Amino acid sequence: MTILVTGGAGYIGSHMVLKLLEVSQAVVVLDNLTTGFRAQVPAEVPFIEGNVNDAALVAKIISEHNIEAVIHFAGSIIVPESVENPLKYYANNTANSRALIEACVAGGVKHFIFSSTAAVYGDPAVVPVCEDSDLKPLSPYGTSKLMTEMMLHDVAAAHDFNFVALRYFNVAGADPQGRTGQSTANATHLIKVACQAALGLRPSMSIFGDDYDTPDGTGLRDYIHVSDLADAHYCAIKYLQGGGDSQIFNCGYGHGYSVHEVVASVKRVSGVDFKVVMEPRRAGDSPKVIAENSRILDVLKWQASYDDLDVIVAHALAWEKKIHQE
Ligand code: UDP
Repeated sequence: MTILVTGGAGYIGSHMVLKLLEVSQAVVVLDNLTTGFRAQVPAEVPFIEGNVNDAALVAKIISEHNIEAVIHFAGSIIVPESVENPLKYYANNTANSRALIEACVAGGVKHFIFSSTAAVYGDPAVVPVCEDSDLKPLSPYGTSKLMTEMMLHDVAAAHDFNFVALRYFNVAGADPQGRTGQSTANATHLIKVACQAALGLRPSMSIFGDDYDTPDGTGLRDYIHVSDLADAHYCAIKYLQGGGDSQIFNCGYGHGYSVHEVVASVKRVSGVDFKVVMEPRRAGDSPKVIAENSRILDVLKWQASYDDLDVIVAHALAWEKKIHQE
């Protein structure tokens, strides 16, 4: 029994591959390397360069490797880009997922784990936000992921196939052993940007808005360590293999940090007092996005190991240092 990881050369997918190797689970990676890095997949893992919508290729992988489950990370993830180029997101995240799901059903794959997002909630009215809250994505990115959740729901009702969709909150950090991390160029995510400022890779960083209705006026987010997120996927695989019903779970720690708190953590951990510039609010940002996570704790029995902002920052910083020394 082998697991196919799409997007296994990317940020979260590469952590998933390490987790599967750790538990001696056979794994195959399919990645088209548009944003992933071949070097982030260990050499012993079978690697296929290709697209998830290549039905013949996916059929061949499923039969040759006896694929029982697919963990589908491959996709596009930049919210502002999705606003400018929605059709790219409906192609990569919706249409290509549809093609992959079709190949899975045709090939007899039994279990499917899907990378969804807290962006399906848009600007949640109640925080922490639970899975049954209103779904009002504010971007084509969020909609493109929500449409795939809906397809999976219908496919699971019609076929011998179960799925888990994991709605990620703010994924951050890097492998504690420094084997992989977030390598994408032109980062916009807060922790990575702050780490780059601490390392002198940018002259300063900006805080987008300090007039929100939050304790210190800056935005609150639920930052989850990428290795804990990979563990959540592993719990989901076990759950589906055990005959669990198809379900959707929030993936977050259930508490948030403000931008000021994140910046303070990066300064503390790095020991560098880098320059921070106050800027107006960034378009489309919500004041607070925090997960209600009791469902994943109760049903998947997921347990966090790195629920500590300074630890997340330390791992992100170590990875950032490493990639800029290479
Ligand atoms: N943010 C910031 N400066 C940056 C990047 C982000 O102040 O350079 C803020 C942003 O406004 C939000 C939080 O940090 O309140 C998290 O933003 P990020 O882009 O990391 O993730 P998002 O929640 O938008 O997916």
